[in-house]
Amino acid sequence: MSALMPAAVYVGDGQMSVQELPIPVAGAGDVLVEVAQCGICGSDMHLVLERYARPGTVLGHEWAGTVISLGPGVAGWEPGDRVVSNPTPGCGKCRPCRRGRPSVCLEREPPDYLSFGGAFCRYMVVRAERLLRIPDALSTRAAALTEPTAIAIHTVNLARVDTDDRVLITGAGPVGLLTLSVLLARGVTDVTVSEPSASRRERAKAIGAAAVLAPDELGGAPLGRPVEHPYAVAFECSGHAGAAEAALDQLDFAGTLVFVGTGREMPRINHNRMIVLELTAIGAYNYDDEGFGPALALLAGGALPTDLLIEPDDVALSGVLDAMQRLARGEIPGKVMVRPQEVS
Ligand SMILES: [Zn+2]
Ligand SMILES: [Zn+2]
Repeated sequence: MSALMPAAVYVGDGQMSVQELPIPVAGAGDVLVEVAQCGICGSDMHLVLERYARPGTVLGHEWAGTVISLGPGVAGWEPGDRVVSNPTPGCGKCRPCRRGRPSVCLEREPPDYLSFGGAFCRYMVVRAERLLRIPDALSTRAAALTEPTAIAIHTVNLARVDTDDRVLITGAGPVGLLTLSVLLARGVTDVTVSEPSASRRERAKAIGAAAVLAPDELGGAPLGRPVEHPYAVAFECSGHAGAAEAALDQLDFAGTLVFVGTGREMPRINHNRMIVLELTAIGAYNYDDEGFGPALALLAGGALPTDLLIEPDDVALSGVLDAMQRLARGEIPGKVMVRPQEVS
């Protein structure tokens, strides 16, 4: 094994380049993992395309891989084991933890939103105690969907969706499609998807949306009353201000708007409507206190259409920026996997 590995590095100015970085060394309690696939997340795209990331950062956190070697004192794992890494647990005692939300634990290390992750590279070092084994029934590639699936599960749980609820999803990119799939797997079948891109609407339909619409087909709301066919819950997965405003208008009495997609432009919230209809707006960020286990189980059980959720062609490290730009333009519906073993 050479001492260097290729990595897709953010170099500033909205640009990325493939560079040779030192292969990290597994210390006590660590394992060295070879990344098989790492999905491109919306947050990676914001950090690169909107230039928030610190130059020199390696992004990518939706990975699955194979154990290569063990650091001192590690037992229970062997080279060749296929793994993902569980999130850090919360303290279990603070107010967010008591509410099943360890991702916003008050005792956690202050998150570094600008340089987390680091799996757009060939090797990573991971704490052994955080590893989860990928079940035999699940391919390593599909297991790279574990992290975003855990988010979709958390999102659906926070929204307390009932199986007979009418649900709206705005935005059918990778996050919206995964949210749709988790809802369907939970038995929530009356899901409408609003999305401007025809190819994304088509994918939502193929996954099982009851109806798909272009955003301008969502009618305006009458003053102080619900629309004709209102929704109990709306998941805003596009990050666009206009979509959030339209989603709020579509809610029924006591409806819930869930903010899932981040965006630079902030929506205007009709507080009068929120008061009169007793609406709730919540944000969903990361994972439940059960971590990635339920997501792995859901994926391994075959309940999610991974072939429709993951784009067929993986990209090499040199193709990450181009894939991000195409995703941002809405040209690609599903999750794009990066294969760090391939440079170009
Ligand atoms: Zn992510
Ligand atoms: Zn806590």
